[in-house]
Amino acid sequence: MALDRLNFLYQEVIFDHTKQPHNHKTIDNATHEMQLLNPSCGDMINVQMFVSDGVIEDIGFIGEGCSISMASASMMTVALMGRTIEEAEQVIDGFVEHVGGPKVSDDLAMSSKKLEGILQDAVLLEGVRKFPARYKCATLAWKAAELGFYPEERARLIEGLTVNSSDEGDELDE
Ligand code: ZN
Repeated sequence: MALDRLNFLYQEVIFDHTKQPHNHKTIDNATHEMQLLNPSCGDMINVQMFVSDGVIEDIGFIGEGCSISMASASMMTVALMGRTIEEAEQVIDGFVEHVGGPKVSDDLAMSSKKLEGILQDAVLLEGVRKFPARYKCATLAWKAAELGFYPEERARLIEGLTVNSSDEGDELDE
């Protein structure tokens, strides 16, 4: 695809998700929740999920931030809704790698074709590769979701992001 066309698509898709975000809501009976802050941009996202028998039955986000962080959060909820936690983790790892993050393993657990099918619009966020400062904006919601599954693993995943909670903030230096 021509570069101009790709840039146009990228901007259109970001705009659509920012204007009408998917699953922009709180979950009343949430079983998992994580709020993350991206201090370098000021993005704040709270992700809530209702998980039953290892399946994400419902997922939503609230927060404030730049258009990339909000659009990416919307895309994340679409990509993870209805998936098992195991599959969601593969999708998150695949997305983070797709937008320029560290490779999780040499053998992708999921084929790139399958991953792209699940990511849908989020595939276009690979545009942030050209803008490393926006990488944290693009991955914030996805990391919040993964940390929501396993809060104890946050040290590995957090990379310059902050858990925005009043009683746990001091633990980040460990
Ligand atoms: Zn941002």
